[in-house]
Amino acid sequence: MMTQVKTAAEIEAMRVSGKMLAAVLQHLKNQVQAGMSTKDLAIIAARELERLGGKPAFLGYQGFPDVICISVNEEVVHGIPSAGKILQAGDILGLDFGVVYNGMITDGAISVIVGKPKEQRHLELVRATETSMYEGIAAVRDHVRTGDIGAAVQTVLDKGKFGIVRDLVGHGVGHQLHEDPNVPNYGRPHTGPWLSKGMTIAIEPMATLGTDKVYVAPDQWTILTADKSMAAHFEHTVLITEDGAEILTEV
Ligand code: MG
Repeated sequence: MMTQVKTAAEIEAMRVSGKMLAAVLQHLKNQVQAGMSTKDLAIIAARELERLGGKPAFLGYQGFPDVICISVNEEVVHGIPSAGKILQAGDILGLDFGVVYNGMITDGAISVIVGKPKEQRHLELVRATETSMYEGIAAVRDHVRTGDIGAAVQTVLDKGKFGIVRDLVGHGVGHQLHEDPNVPNYGRPHTGPWLSKGMTIAIEPMATLGTDKVYVAPDQWTILTADKSMAAHFEHTVLITEDGAEILTEV
């Protein structure tokens, strides 16, 4: 389904949804420490979202078994929270969360390092991935093309010599978790589908310290880097406006 221009009421619901999402991710970021399991974080996320009045968008989506995706180190995205997965100092943790409010969905993610980074390059990866997301967002305006966004993201990640995951991409979002079109994290300006104001999209670069190749784990969900290099992921849901973008998944 192609992402639609949202009504004022739908946009307002997405603002509420996105603020809840951001508040939960912020809360998790504050709580993360070595020794916790990824399931501990998922339980906190579920409880916090319930308290705020939102519903988890990922639980049951194509059979996904939890409220949040938590991906550690070489896991890029779609990690399933597990009581047996204990966080260690220096782990790079991807927290990807989706919220439904009044029928409208927002999607967002952050990467955080547990305690101190093991290597300076880990910190650079996390920072560059976040910067590339904001550069992608800065390219957004009425009549933007997906290639304009992808090129802006790619420029940052290429400059830092990071791998850009190509098998997974940003997307339209709102009525459904994933709406068309795809919003790749690479590309050339002035190419790809046009987007107009009032549409809502998720911009979500996934970068690695090595290859851009990934594979699916035997659990059928977790996506890992093919060379076991570290990965980072940031995502915001944004509303396209006349001359820019309004970030919805922000507190
Ligand atoms: Mg997404």
